[in-house]
Amino acid sequence: MTETADVVIIGSGIVGSSVAYHLAEQGCTNVLVIEREAHQGKGSTGKSMGGVRAQFATDVNIQMSRYSIDFFSNFDEIVGHPADYRAHGYLFCATDDRQLDYLKSNRARQLALGVKNVELVSRDDILKFVPQLRADDIVGGAFCPTDGFVDPHSVMMGFMLKARERGVRLWLDTPVTGIETEPLSTGTANNGTVNPGTAGVSPANRGPEASFTGPNTVSKRRAGGTPAVPVIAVPVGRRITAVMTARGRVSTPIVVNAAGPWAAQVARLAGAELPVEPLRRQLVPTESFNQLPQRFPMVIDMSTGFHFRREGKGILLAWNDPEETVGFKTEFDPKFVEKILTRAANRVPCLVDAEVNPRRAWAGLYEMTPDHHAIIGPAANVAGLYFVNGFSGHGVMHSPASGRITADLILNGHSDLIDTRTLSIERFSEGRLLEETAVL
Ligand SMILES: Cc1cc2nc3c(=O)[nH]c(=O)nc-3n(C[C@H](O)[C@H](O)[C@H](O)COP(=O)(O)OP(=O)(O)OC[C@H]3O[C@@H](n4cnc5c(N)ncnc54)[C@H](O)[C@@H]3O)c2cc1C
Repeated sequence: MTETADVVIIGSGIVGSSVAYHLAEQGCTNVLVIEREAHQGKGSTGKSMGGVRAQFATDVNIQMSRYSIDFFSNFDEIVGHPADYRAHGYLFCATDDRQLDYLKSNRARQLALGVKNVELVSRDDILKFVPQLRADDIVGGAFCPTDGFVDPHSVMMGFMLKARERGVRLWLDTPVTGIETEPLSTGTANNGTVNPGTAGVSPANRGPEASFTGPNTVSKRRAGGTPAVPVIAVPVGRRITAVMTARGRVSTPIVVNAAGPWAAQVARLAGAELPVEPLRRQLVPTESFNQLPQRFPMVIDMSTGFHFRREGKGILLAWNDPEETVGFKTEFDPKFVEKILTRAANRVPCLVDAEVNPRRAWAGLYEMTPDHHAIIGPAANVAGLYFVNGFSGHGVMHSPASGRITADLILNGHSDLIDTRTLSIERFSEGRLLEETAVL
């Protein structure tokens, strides 16, 4: 017997899990999440540093962070599972006036968007947080106390456990090997894409088990009424009919691509192009180290991009090597240890005493887009295909917002959380690229 689902989500990392949770919360529970690994969290989610921050440079990233940090601070009550949110703050340290001006203009933008607690700080303030810093060249900085860290694995599990409680199914150990589409010569669409209420989940496309029971049900909207935007008839290429997996065919009208760094490969299965590339990032934990405070913020040295935070008894060191090249490289490079320790000791001289075991260091993949912003929303020419990809290193912190926006788009055709056109795939063909300069 062919399996059916109203929505298939490919990938069970923190983003796919959040989409599943938010769909289920809105009453869409005939959802199947398909994961090729035997366990969740084997992709980027399990490699993350777990940082969350509202200190971004673009409106949409600040809005996504605001929603998400608020969500994390109530995660345990809302989801019934710990997020281990630690509001230890992010402390950006500027070493010249240009960087300081940049922090000032970002702060003005953050304040305007409701992030009211970002403070500009002096060198002396910075030294109160971490007296061991070499601060002779630091001219000031910015600090936001509600930035901090979460446990990405726990957040992912919380989303998925709650989604499964509501009826969502999860298939592990099941690679998706194909996505079936059929031609759609003329369809109903908005903004040149698909109206999810009318084309994406038409009764003909829905499987026998389809059951939207929440307040925003497709059937209610179809029976009751008016779509969110005027519906115009335009050709929309093809539409999703099924996914092929190692366990067989699953009939579905809607596929959510939540495949992290592998998202472009998954998009290609449906004949869609997605500008998402994998880029290695490496993290180095020190052994137990007590020469730095037990609690301090994530500290970012803006002169090099080196940043660090406490992780248990040791310190977690991070630096994005500008020489890194695109590719599926998940091996840790032992030569990276010397590179990062040079930057570390330069900013925090006592770190020369820190012991590092390269076997405890690890590498993972960022999922980069050309403008360092996520791509969220329907594909341009494959009706029923949704992207929630390309977080460019921010997928953990933005997982609550991106899951909510994706569920809103699938079920309602719009979201009130952000202007969804901003992150649409069309921004590349329409020349509306964004630029996020506060990438770590
Ligand atoms: C070193 C490092 C540090 C980071 N630090 C931070 C940080 O501090 N803060 C932050 O917000 N973000 C951080 N990130 C980024 C963050 O980890 C990612 O943006 C986020 O985890 C993406 O989640 P995801 O669910 O989209 O992808 P993933 O977790 O990669 O999940 C995708 C899943 O899709 C599955 N999949 C792929 N193809 C198929 C297929 N064909 N069939 C079935 N399943 C498939 C994979 O197995 C995988 O489980 C960091 C990343 C790295 C590498």
